[in-house]
Amino acid sequence: MPEMPEVQTLIDSLLEEDILNKKIKDVTFYMEKLFKNCTPNEFKDFVLNEKIINIDRIGKYLIFHLSNKKVFVVHLRMEGKIFYQDSNSKYDEKHTLLRISFGKKEMRYQDTRKFGTFHIFLEENYKNSKELSKLALDPLQEGFDWKYLKCNISKSNKFIKTALLDQTNVAGIGNIYVDEILFASKIHPESKCNKLTDDNFKTIASNSKKIIKKAIDNKGTTISTYMYKKESKGEFQKFLNVHTKKDSDCVNCKTKITKMKVNGRGTYICSNCQVNKK
Ligand SMILES: [Zn+2]
Repeated sequence: MPEMPEVQTLIDSLLEEDILNKKIKDVTFYMEKLFKNCTPNEFKDFVLNEKIINIDRIGKYLIFHLSNKKVFVVHLRMEGKIFYQDSNSKYDEKHTLLRISFGKKEMRYQDTRKFGTFHIFLEENYKNSKELSKLALDPLQEGFDWKYLKCNISKSNKFIKTALLDQTNVAGIGNIYVDEILFASKIHPESKCNKLTDDNFKTIASNSKKIIKKAIDNKGTTISTYMYKKESKGEFQKFLNVHTKKDSDCVNCKTKITKMKVNGRGTYICSNCQVNKK
């Protein structure tokens, strides 16, 4: 599943490929339920003849800013991918759900699992939408620090892993990076939030920043299928210490990494390094 580093890498790649300021000449859609607050035809009318003037992100949501103060918002969910390619190039016809044509180039949305979402808004109100208004700060946003994290979760009796995956506490972190952050922080994923100390919050906040930053620098993590453009995969999997590392030696203490379930999510830990604060 794409997390914040993968989404940021995709945005950087689209911008690098010069997608901005080209008039949208046609829209072809293949799945009605991709659009959550409009019909496919309403989406088409909304974007037609506009240009994408900027792309940024809130948490894991991609925000496409259009001319005339319009916005469309995309969430890739499990397997969504966006490719910007020559219009006459081959594409995966079975899994491409939307094509936005700029003439010689096309933006193609491909999704084998079909969980991705598209919304349309006006520039003035997209941040107040149901989807975006509840999102917390992400680890690289100004204002995110250990006090912010503590304020959001220290009264909860949930497991720390569960709390960090909740996008209303901190945005952008998913199952890969949360395992790495808790390993680096030497904290067991089933530690209760309300048992954590200030030092624990400081460690978690600083490791969140460090690990997410390093993942973006390495263009995200490719474990199964994530690609930010055709033939371009992330490199951060080389730096994973616990996630997907079952039965490998812990880099700190040589204990074998184990896999467990935390609220149904596959979770990798070093049972020696990571202390459970019950
Ligand atoms: Zn260890």
